[in-house]
Amino acid sequence: MKTIGIMTSGGDSPGMNAAIRAVVKHASANGIKVIGIYNGYKGLVEKNCAELSTASVENLYRKGGTVLKTARFVDFKKPEVIQKAVENCNSLGIEGMVVIGGDGSFRGARDLTHAGIPCVGIPGTIDNDIVCTEDTIGFDSSMNIIIDCISKLRDTSETLDRCAIVEVMGAGAGWMALEGGIATGADVILVPEVKFDFQKDVIDLIKAKKANGQNNFIIVVAECVFFPESNSKHKKNVNFEYVNEQGIENIDKFTKRFQAESGVESRGTVLGHIQRGGAPTFHDCILATNMGVHAVNLLIENKSKRVVVMQNGKVTDFDIDEGLSMKKPFDKERLIMATNLNF
Ligand code: ATP
Repeated sequence: MKTIGIMTSGGDSPGMNAAIRAVVKHASANGIKVIGIYNGYKGLVEKNCAELSTASVENLYRKGGTVLKTARFVDFKKPEVIQKAVENCNSLGIEGMVVIGGDGSFRGARDLTHAGIPCVGIPGTIDNDIVCTEDTIGFDSSMNIIIDCISKLRDTSETLDRCAIVEVMGAGAGWMALEGGIATGADVILVPEVKFDFQKDVIDLIKAKKANGQNNFIIVVAECVFFPESNSKHKKNVNFEYVNEQGIENIDKFTKRFQAESGVESRGTVLGHIQRGGAPTFHDCILATNMGVHAVNLLIENKSKRVVVMQNGKVTDFDIDEGLSMKKPFDKERLIMATNLNF
């Protein structure tokens, strides 16, 4: 193998640059040239690319975002578009491709492999929603941002005897809200996987805590609790009808209604894209480096349609189709534990 391509695709996550650096440096050490594809599959089809020298990636280990940029490009599901990507790879001499992204990006990698370009995926997503791996590049960094932000909101809420209502991202799932809520001792954690009753599970609980002498509160809500049903990507977990019935279909309405019914002065904060930015943590720098090296080794060994994963604390790999078909049930026990702990 003389030349490989590399792209970042889907949502960006801290640590993607560290993975790019590791891929380029390890490939170069093995005599392989690396072509960086800009804007994910869109850039591959548009032939928007440049060779990445080791010097160009030298200081990327802690740079946030992705220097290769990223894009969502729905047309990559069309056979004629995939064919164009294959033609571009052939004309550039690309014999293998490393795709850093989430599960959607791995579907693209699978299709590109079937079309003739061997691909290897690296899980780069803040959501940690790729079931076959215990860890994804960016999850730890994003969780650290969440707990840092909630801790800051805790300080001001404590000073002013308020309730901070914090909306966190999480790709249609409540994992980030659950773990962030547990780590910061949130009073209430609301996730789309578990139905909640606004009166009983939120108002009555906070009133009981207030009667117990508590004066400041944290409520963590997964953003997808408020997603409309029209958001097809996240449809599977959405409780929108139920949330809508309760008249709390966004964080502003939630905050106003909570304040009116609980009698606790409240402020709503949406963490949003701040969760994706900044330098990766030590954990993600190491993970990205180890996964980048493993991905190049797979291509050198002529293995393809593989996704690099963390299993039992070790970097290994899985067949993409096998990995994508795995399901991860939401751990309701942890939510119950969090609620009990924080009473
Ligand atoms: P994140 O978890 O951060 O959202 P992701 O990789 O899951 O990342 P998606 O938007 O789902 O993000 O997918 C990224 C890109 O992968 C898409 O824009 C598209 O180009 C390609 N892709 C997604 N699904 C498929 C599919 N079924 N077949 C081929 N390509 C796909």
